[in-house]
Amino acid sequence: MKPRPYILKEINFKTVKETNYNVAILPWAATEAHNLHLPYGTDIYESDVIAEQSAKIAWEKGAKVVVLPAIPYGVNTQQMDIKLTINMNPSTQALVLSDVVESLQKQGIEKLVVLNGHGGNNFKQIIRELQKDSKIFITTLAWYEVGNYDDFFEIRGDHAHEMETSFMLHSFPELVLPLDEAGVGEAKNIKIKGFKEKWAWAPREWTKVTTDTGIGNPKLATAEKGKKYISFISAEIAQFLVELSEIDVSKMYV
Ligand SMILES: [Zn+2]
Repeated sequence: MKPRPYILKEINFKTVKETNYNVAILPWAATEAHNLHLPYGTDIYESDVIAEQSAKIAWEKGAKVVVLPAIPYGVNTQQMDIKLTINMNPSTQALVLSDVVESLQKQGIEKLVVLNGHGGNNFKQIIRELQKDSKIFITTLAWYEVGNYDDFFEIRGDHAHEMETSFMLHSFPELVLPLDEAGVGEAKNIKIKGFKEKWAWAPREWTKVTTDTGIGNPKLATAEKGKKYISFISAEIAQFLVELSEIDVSKMYV
């Protein structure tokens, strides 16, 4: 395997010394059950694929981006009763992100993108706190929020659903069980009107909502849908990385 100059875990100090990296990308995932048919590392695999593919496109357009190794644990406080799901509390994430920011800042990296790949993670408040004392420009995006879900998939859902299953069928088909072995991903609805209308929020008690850990039926997933979606998302994020790499952060507004 030839090292890719934009993937930190593959490159050496010789390359790093010679390259003027200015945007670091930190994929942040989770380790959790994904219905019966997808691996526990689904969010890690997906976030790495999106980070690597978007960085490749951005690199080829001249952006000096570098993908850091992914953080494998996310906020799973409502899934602690599901065997081998590993939770990282938001307060721990704040400390981890603070350490990453401090390291990069000492080395003159100008910008950091936290690439979120798990719905339970939320970096906005952490970034608000870190940014007030940081010279690095810190930003976050959730790759699964890019684009319009309905343009690519037929059955809605948000966990181990048609999208994630299509993604994994395209990228790592050998890690996906045959779909007739998957659960239906049926989710119970919450009773209070304000929650249904989504202006009130509370974390979902996962095992009270779903029996197979999935939310959204994966039965219509295909590798072809996954391929189309991944290439769209990667192109969009690549464009963001190019613009971010080029911009003078002291002149962000018009
Ligand atoms: Zn997932």
